[in-house]
Amino acid sequence: MEFDTKLIHGGISEDEFTGATSIPIYMASTFHQKKIGESKYEYSRSGNPTREAVERLIADLEGGTAGFAFASGSAAINTVFSLFSAGDHFIVGNDVYGGTFRLIDAVLKRFGMTFTIVDTRDLEAVKHAITPQTKAIYLETPTNPLLRVTDIAAVADIAKQYHVLSIIDNTFASPYVQRPLELGVDIVLHSASKYLGGHSDVIAGLVVTKDPDLGQKIGYLQNAIGGILAPQESWLLQRGMKTLSLRMRAHLKNAQAIFEYLNNQPMVSKIYYPGDPENPDYAVAKKQMHGFGAMISFELQPGLDPKAFVEQLRVITLAESLGALESLIEVPAIMTHGAIPRDIRLQNGIKDELIRLSVGVEDQVDLLADLARGFHYLAD
Ligand SMILES: *Cc1c(COP(=O)(O)O)cnc(C)c1O
Repeated sequence: MEFDTKLIHGGISEDEFTGATSIPIYMASTFHQKKIGESKYEYSRSGNPTREAVERLIADLEGGTAGFAFASGSAAINTVFSLFSAGDHFIVGNDVYGGTFRLIDAVLKRFGMTFTIVDTRDLEAVKHAITPQTKAIYLETPTNPLLRVTDIAAVADIAKQYHVLSIIDNTFASPYVQRPLELGVDIVLHSASKYLGGHSDVIAGLVVTKDPDLGQKIGYLQNAIGGILAPQESWLLQRGMKTLSLRMRAHLKNAQAIFEYLNNQPMVSKIYYPGDPENPDYAVAKKQMHGFGAMISFELQPGLDPKAFVEQLRVITLAESLGALESLIEVPAIMTHGAIPRDIRLQNGIKDELIRLSVGVEDQVDLLADLARGFHYLAD
């Protein structure tokens, strides 16, 4: 089945008992066992038909054998790290999501895990950081907010060579744009609160793996830790996912148009977009991504006020988060990345003048006019 067809007919697209073409929301905590040990579902933490529908759907979309749904992306990430133990070492990408960094720094370190932060685009640096205690390489691509792109297949190869797991947070791309399991990665996870849900109305996390052994272990932990996605949210998420391709095509088209507009705007000094042929990561992006995603970051000329710019917009919404139908804009230095001390933030390349834009699916005429309004205001 092709990807677009899988979105519609993958997972469990029809109710087994009634034939309903929309999977029902099974609001049940427990299930009648006609014979002990023979029932398909026992208790909704361990398994629920509505949750199973979204879990099987993400497994189909990413090309995995098992999918798992959690109450948030963060719960998904924490459950994946629960595969490991005190004393284990990890290589982590240098601009992972702030909440992931917080989980590592404030929680997992207390449990005796150790971490080396590396720019995972530098494959030699990744190899160099591996120790006998290393258990996994964990990264995001494209990253937030500078949209840096790591060669997924190359990192998966290194992981295999050194017998460690490779784990990728695929939130910024979505499985429409890239499918890391197909490139040899062991575990893929998502904040489904972004492109997969797509409508800014659900917080959810998903994990997929191809290896049945690993799937069995993650399923065990999902039940043991209990951070599951509830039936209503599971339904809402799979409903949103069905239009992923339709939405992504519109997102990608608008992003390309906005990139071209910004590229000709003299008040913009630098653009971060994997689809920019001048971007150092362009060749890798072209090789592994289907389209370049719909996130664009850009810097205003020094001295121009990014806060004044974003506050001037009327169509593009000033808000954190991404991957929504509506275009969302923010200033990382004082919003999403405001908790990072300024010197460290600057060291990581996140300047005060940086603006991050999650391009939505509005008509591009209105989006371009809105950006023009912001630049016009700055010019006055
Ligand atoms: C939002 C986000 C998360 C966290 O997901 P929640 O659903 O908010 O818990 C993790 N990784 C990335 C890349 C994100 O953008």
